[in-house]
Amino acid sequence: MKQIEHWVDGKSTTGSGTRTGPVFNPATGEQTGVVVFAAAEDVDAAVRSATAAFEQWSQTSLAARTKILFEFRRLVADHMDELARIICEEHGKVLADARGEVQRGLEVVELACGIPTLLKGDYSDQVSTGVDAFSFRQPLGVVAGITPFNFPVMVPMWMHPIAIACGNAFILKPSERDPSASQMVARLWQEAGLPDGVFTVINGDREAVDALLDHPGIAAISFVGSTPVARYVHARATAAGKRVQALGGAKNHAVVLPDVDPGYAAEHVAAAAFGSAGERCMAISVAVAVGDGQVVDAITEEARKIRVGPGWEPESQMGPVITAAAKERITGLVNRGVEQGARLLVDGRSHVVPGYEKGFFLGPTVLDEVTPAMDVYREEIFGPVLSVVRVGTIDEAIRLVNANPYGNGAAIFTSSGAAARRFQREVTAGMIGINVPIPTPMAYYSFGGWKDSLFGERHVHGPEGVAFYTRLKAVTSRWPQVEAAQQASFHFPTAT
Ligand code: NAD
Repeated sequence: MKQIEHWVDGKSTTGSGTRTGPVFNPATGEQTGVVVFAAAEDVDAAVRSATAAFEQWSQTSLAARTKILFEFRRLVADHMDELARIICEEHGKVLADARGEVQRGLEVVELACGIPTLLKGDYSDQVSTGVDAFSFRQPLGVVAGITPFNFPVMVPMWMHPIAIACGNAFILKPSERDPSASQMVARLWQEAGLPDGVFTVINGDREAVDALLDHPGIAAISFVGSTPVARYVHARATAAGKRVQALGGAKNHAVVLPDVDPGYAAEHVAAAAFGSAGERCMAISVAVAVGDGQVVDAITEEARKIRVGPGWEPESQMGPVITAAAKERITGLVNRGVEQGARLLVDGRSHVVPGYEKGFFLGPTVLDEVTPAMDVYREEIFGPVLSVVRVGTIDEAIRLVNANPYGNGAAIFTSSGAAARRFQREVTAGMIGINVPIPTPMAYYSFGGWKDSLFGERHVHGPEGVAFYTRLKAVTSRWPQVEAAQQASFHFPTAT
């Protein structure tokens, strides 16, 4: 069984922690590895190494940094299949989906290759007689990212390429459920020529997270995970004086108007609900059928067609969920939904994949006549379960979406430009899809939700990512010629 260690100062280390966690292949149900958990001293050693590396790295020219980023981009592209395989075997998602994840992470690396342009400052000549003013952005120091299990490559890549390109040293604490991909990413950074200590990986659970949140040597925390932990991370790290962006959970609604082709909408809604076994923060977990609800029959048909199996089988469209505990929790929520009055249209609770009886598989589940009072509506299920809520009008649909405490993404399916425009302006979510079920912004835009889906004010990657990992400095300068030297003034400076 493999052991997954930390990556500190350019090498693997077991650290001093005595606790470990199991890593599974969710499709077979077998334990494939043991991940070592960091103790507070290990986090401290990582911060010391990163602090020393930052001293050098922050002084490295943009030209030299960019060369390393381009090389890292090439290496990630060259190793896409290996990274996808690791994701498939530890997370469970199907290979094509895993490749898509790496591709979307790579796009952030490509954005970071343009860091000289992204970091260009402003300059104003002659703001006062003989005086010029300019501003530019500088790195923060050592920054940390704490990431979830569901995108073990892409979500960390929302953070580290930009943080590092901006001149920071970055410490990653990936999910303890699928930690292996981060080891490979660390090696690729090293091979690209990144100095040791600029990219660090610390494995662990709450103990390691708390040590990062409290450590005075860390300037900023990027977190992505569930809402209760995001809220906790934001509160604790801001109390420790850090800059924080903490992205939380989601309950993304797809509103389907009766003017749209139900077959088209159903295909997209089903793919967005059941792709990656529903374990995406942008998954559609609620379909809001407006009016005649014709789309519900079409969704049911689509859900029944989905082929469930191990991610490495080319015909699989949906893999297992992450752990046996997740499977049990999701099944329990579906049971509660039925008890509370939802109508089960497709039941995936006892789905078995022949040959993989011990795998953590569930089939797609569709629950109809769900109401906002039911647990299946109120809780983030994070599994292959789609709840259908029926409403009469678009007004009711918008009210429903806006009353939900989460505000990550929301989509509308319609052939009406007026309805779509109204939706994009009135809905209180950070990312809106119009006939697009998973409106994940491109790397050069920023990704983030509203309400309980994000704590802190900056979204990730794109311009907001650059702003998050840097601080602004404004300079006012005068180079007096001896004969024209102005006298110092005791009143507040005004332009002359
Ligand atoms: P999680 O909150 O359990 O874990 C996220 C990270 O926090 C992990 O690194 C974990 O080790 C750590 N952690 C867990 N419990 C902790 C605690 N009590 N104290 C301190 N640290 C703790 O999330 P998960 O199950 O790995 O991922 C799924 C969740 O992530 C879902 O809620 C999903 O919606 C969310 N997510 C959100 C986005 C987004 O962009 N908003 C993206 C991906 C995933």
